[in-house]
Amino acid sequence: MLRPILKYGDQMLHEPARTVESITPEIERLVDDMIETMYAAPGVGLAAPQVGLPLRIFVVDISIGHDPSGLMVFINPEFVERDGVQLEEEGCLSVPGFNATVVRPSRAVVKGLDRAGTVQQHEGTGLLARAFQHEMDHLDGTLFVDRLRGIKRDLIVRRIKKLTRAGKW
Ligand SMILES: [Zn+2]
Repeated sequence: MLRPILKYGDQMLHEPARTVESITPEIERLVDDMIETMYAAPGVGLAAPQVGLPLRIFVVDISIGHDPSGLMVFINPEFVERDGVQLEEEGCLSVPGFNATVVRPSRAVVKGLDRAGTVQQHEGTGLLARAFQHEMDHLDGTLFVDRLRGIKRDLIVRRIKKLTRAGKW
């Protein structure tokens, strides 16, 4: 089932998410829906707060469904290692129509439970490291816009406010 994706400004996106206590059938259904919603968008990642659930879950697939081994589900993820720096354009399904260059680690190792509740660890470089950091940020209530500084950030926030006032956001 597709779930509606919340947009920048919705309080749920700006608050830290809670740890998942146990992988219930509801959690499994949520994960399935998140995968379906991510592919339909299409996007390379989606975090549970983006579909209105304040839980520490995200899904990532930088191949967007083209590589069957590309799909990763993380429940209660944490960083094991992060290093390097990369600067690339980035967007977010919760901030449609906006992109900006964001500083991210060039390599990241994330550990967490998979959908079966088994501990797993994945290393990402380049786009995957960026996606890991972007989705982990969502679980802490941080969007890429919050990572920007000065004029760039003000410009995006002002345009979103304008769209919101016009009923177009
Ligand atoms: Zn995002």
